[in-house]
Amino acid sequence: MHPTVKPALRRGWRDLGTAQFGMTPPHALTLGPMDTATSGLLDLLNGTRGLPLLRAEGRRLGLPDGRVDTLVDRLARAGLLDDARGGGPAADALRARTEVLRRLRPDLASLSLTTSEPGGALARLAARRALRVRVHGAGRVGAVVAAVLSGAGVGEVEVRDEGRVRPWDVAPGGLPAEAVGGRRDTAAAAVVRRAAPDRPPRRPHSPGSGTGEPGLSLVILAPRDDVAVYAPDPRAAEPLLASGTPHLYAGVVEGTGVVGPLVLPGETACAGCLHEARTDRDPAWPRLLAQWRSGGGPRRVGACDMALSTTVAGLAAAHALAYLDGASPSGSGARWEVSLPALSWHARPVLPHPACRCGAAERADEKAEGEQSSTLGRSRATMAVQRPSTERAREAGAARPTGTWRAHV
Ligand SMILES: [Zn+2]
Repeated sequence: MHPTVKPALRRGWRDLGTAQFGMTPPHALTLGPMDTATSGLLDLLNGTRGLPLLRAEGRRLGLPDGRVDTLVDRLARAGLLDDARGGGPAADALRARTEVLRRLRPDLASLSLTTSEPGGALARLAARRALRVRVHGAGRVGAVVAAVLSGAGVGEVEVRDEGRVRPWDVAPGGLPAEAVGGRRDTAAAAVVRRAAPDRPPRRPHSPGSGTGEPGLSLVILAPRDDVAVYAPDPRAAEPLLASGTPHLYAGVVEGTGVVGPLVLPGETACAGCLHEARTDRDPAWPRLLAQWRSGGGPRRVGACDMALSTTVAGLAAAHALAYLDGASPSGSGARWEVSLPALSWHARPVLPHPACRCGAAERADEKAEGEQSSTLGRSRATMAVQRPSTERAREAGAARPTGTWRAHV
């Protein structure tokens, strides 16, 4: 291990013995109290030295035996430490591709903030290369989502759409003006290739067709049709539900941008759940929907603000990446919506509906029952986690030479 204090976190000293890593509350931590020699050691944790050399440096600084290991261990447990050589074989392979890694340096730094284990950030970045994602819809939103995912290091991004590129499909980061008149899917594939920091890794040809074939980590549904954005058709998602393929909705309808829900089949609410809930709330919903679906036609060009579509594409890609990197973004069980011109994002919950056959409602019931029977154990655990940080800080200061805790800044 070649420990390095995560360089993505800005360091500052709250006082002589207390370091704060990071500026923003979601990722900032403080470390202390520590003596001058220990704080001097922090500067040596920059990825250029292994543990034996660090121990020798520690002795030179007059630190007692074991202090180096204790510090490294505490930093690692606090999630402040990265390993300049860690992450496993896939990370090693990516580390060797210096040009690719230079392109993705800010993304790697960002991943270091959301991974706790040393070497975890590069491991996740390397894992993106092996992922396969499909985007349905190559309009202003879909083509940009595909480009962003490709640019962020997702190895295989396919785009499905039909027809030819129209002048109003052109968007910065998406389909270029030169593509007008060409096939949408071909043009989108070229956009994806151009955005990629690397050639996609070779993979054996996987058989299967349709929207729900195995091997897809995520499908993003970014329809060009505004009715399909506002009221996603549950039938279109049936193959995805049947194959258990996670999928995320995104698009622009009139002056509103929509991201979500992220559907984890059988776990979180799907397009069918959304439809059932709307029908419950508004008996006229099915009648309106039928009119909207039959109206319009291919010649109609819906409203789609360029900045709004770009925003939606960016947020959708961020939700997709967070999910693909192993987190639980807030798009599962919710639709994020933003409307012109106020532009304040808000999340509307999308709950599993018992009339929907996707199974999420049954699953939610099972979970609720399970939670009810373990309420006692859970409340104890919650109390331990939620202890105010000031209390823990005091305790750490009194009892431990070097304590770590989450800072409130
Ligand atoms: Zn459902």
